Amino acid sequence: MQAFREAILAGAGGEELAALPLPSSYRAAYVSRDDAAMFEGVESNDKDPRKSLHVGDVAVPELAPDEAYVAVMAGAINFNTVWTSIFEPLPTFGFLDRLGKESSWGARHALPYHVVGSDASGVVIRTGSAVRNWKPGDKVTIHCNYVDDQDPSAHDDSMLGANQRIWGFETNFGGLADLTVVKANQLMPKPTHLTWEEAAVNALCNSTAYRMLVSRNGAAMQQGHKVLIWGATGGIGSYAVQHVLNGGGTPIGVVSSPAKAELLADMGVEAIIDRKAANYRFWKDEHTQDESEWRRLGKDIRALAGDDPDIVFEHPGRQTMGASVFVCKRGGVIVTCAATSGYMIEYDNRHLWMRLKTIKGSHFANYREAWDANQLIYDGKVQPPLSAVYPLTEVGEATYQVHHNLHEGKIGVLCLAPEEGLGIDDPEKRAAIGEDRITAFRRHGA
Ligand code: NAP
Repeated sequence: MQAFREAILAGAGGEELAALPLPSSYRAAYVSRDDAAMFEGVESNDKDPRKSLHVGDVAVPELAPDEAYVAVMAGAINFNTVWTSIFEPLPTFGFLDRLGKESSWGARHALPYHVVGSDASGVVIRTGSAVRNWKPGDKVTIHCNYVDDQDPSAHDDSMLGANQRIWGFETNFGGLADLTVVKANQLMPKPTHLTWEEAAVNALCNSTAYRMLVSRNGAAMQQGHKVLIWGATGGIGSYAVQHVLNGGGTPIGVVSSPAKAELLADMGVEAIIDRKAANYRFWKDEHTQDESEWRRLGKDIRALAGDDPDIVFEHPGRQTMGASVFVCKRGGVIVTCAATSGYMIEYDNRHLWMRLKTIKGSHFANYREAWDANQLIYDGKVQPPLSAVYPLTEVGEATYQVHHNLHEGKIGVLCLAPEEGLGIDDPEKRAAIGEDRITAFRRHGA
């Protein structure tokens, strides 16, 4: 891929890129099927991605008619790469094997290794014969909704597709690599004012937060809504905060340190709770929750925001769900996309039904939602919360940081991009949006 790197950095056009020969192998971050049992008997927290994530050469797969090869300039760490690298809750090879049985093109994915990564920015270098809207030379970001458009179930909301998958998690050939293979309907225009690494970190978390809060498929937030956001400076939380502020709502942001509280204040959030300082004990012990602690959180929210939250942006799961259901306003929505601290959830159902609340499940976003969320980045209305950048060779350490909640916002990974700061095509737009706004997390994380 070295020739593609040099050509892209030299500003080569589509014809030039299309004429370069494809290599037979490429550098990628992957986990090995042989390692799937390596952490057996080890506590979750001690399962170390630095031991399971390898960086090395893998074969370039054949291109299906509806796909594109993208030269990846930068990728990003998502929590799903943590799950894959610690083989929890299950090794992801089961997903690849299932896809492998679906079709002859699907069979390419069932391999002894899984190339991870569900975010990327880069340049299209080849397209399959059925691709209409994209061509070599197009600068793109990639969203991770992998949809089989021949399945009728995918034609209302593609997230309802019976065999909907997440690229780089439930499919092979992900974005933490110098090359990736994606369906053409995963491609979106790269925001022209951003660097490769700033552009790479957004699609997964921004689209997820957009569907959860803004889309009618999620909580359909309205102006004036108060929204409790757990992990408000984390991956999805930092986009949720921006969507709420943009939409005329009031975010109540929960974080776990004074430094994160300061960052949140810089983003324009006034109602901030430091959960470590408040020392909430929602669970008395492993089996018993403490309603008085839910009540204390509710009081703190009212004191800060003047009312109960219309929407709770929920993802920590077991640790917080009981409290989230309790504090949500009468008639409000608890919208959830995850369960980082445990998926066997417990809440008091009386608080749900007597106060007519709704728990709404949400998962990534369909192409329309991802495209609209990308447009907000493109137009400079949502900023990339990029706080740290690692080279691909240190992908294990970058994933370790996310696993242990040592990061803020998003961590970017340089793939073909040799250094930070490259890829800006529209410096005037960047200046108009404001360097300070675009790099707020990076300066904070530095
Ligand atoms: P992240 O960057 O690690 O952020 C998560 C935040 O949650 C942390 O910053 C932390 O903030 C907070 N948190 C962690 N444990 C907590 C606990 N026990 N109680 C309260 N807050 C806690 O991860 P992310 O990218 O935002 O992803 C969050 C979760 O959503 C992950 O499980 C991920 O797999 C999932 N996810 C799902 C989808 C989907 O499509 N379904 C998409 C994206 C992400 P503080 O320590 O500052 O409070």
